[in-house]
Amino acid sequence: MDPKVYKLLNDQINKEFYSAYLYLEIANYYDARGLDGFANWYEIQAREEQDHAMLFYRYLHNNSQPVVLEGIARPETHFTDLIGPLKAALGHEQYVTGLINAIYAAAAEARDYRTVQFLDWFIKEQGEEEKNSADQITKMELYGGDARSLYMLNSELLARTYTAPSLTLE
Ligand code: MG
Repeated sequence: MDPKVYKLLNDQINKEFYSAYLYLEIANYYDARGLDGFANWYEIQAREEQDHAMLFYRYLHNNSQPVVLEGIARPETHFTDLIGPLKAALGHEQYVTGLINAIYAAAAEARDYRTVQFLDWFIKEQGEEEKNSADQITKMELYGGDARSLYMLNSELLARTYTAPSLTLE
C-alpha cells in the first residue's frame, strides 16, 4: 500500500474513536441536563463512530497492513447553551468529511482503487451525517426556545435506535 494512503487510513482509526469520544461527551452534556432524547441520539452516534473506526481497522488488517493505535485526545467542549453541542457536531462532521476526502484524493492519486471503492461508503455516509446535524440545528432554532416544543423534540430523538452500519467487512 502507498505509504501516504496507509498513514491516512491508520490515522482515521484514531479520528473515528475521537469522534465517538466527542459524541459521548455531548451525550454526557445532555444527560446532565435531563434531555435524555438528545443524550440517546449522541450515545448512538458515539457507537456508530466506533463502528467506523473498526471498519478502518478491519480494512487495514484485510490488506496485511499493521494497525498502530494511538492515544485518544480529551474531547473539546465549551458548550454554553443547548444548541452549542449541535453546532459543534456539525462542525466536526464537516471536518471529518475533509479527512475522508483527503484519503480519497491520496488513494486516487496512488491509483489505489480498492481503497477508493472502500471509501465510497464513507463519502455517502458523511453527506448523511452533515444533513442530520444541520437538520437538528434547524429544529433547535425553530423549537428550542419553547419548553413544550423542546420536550417534543427530545421525545423524537429518544425514539432513535442503534443499527449497525450497512458496510460490513469480513
Ligand atoms: Mg464517522
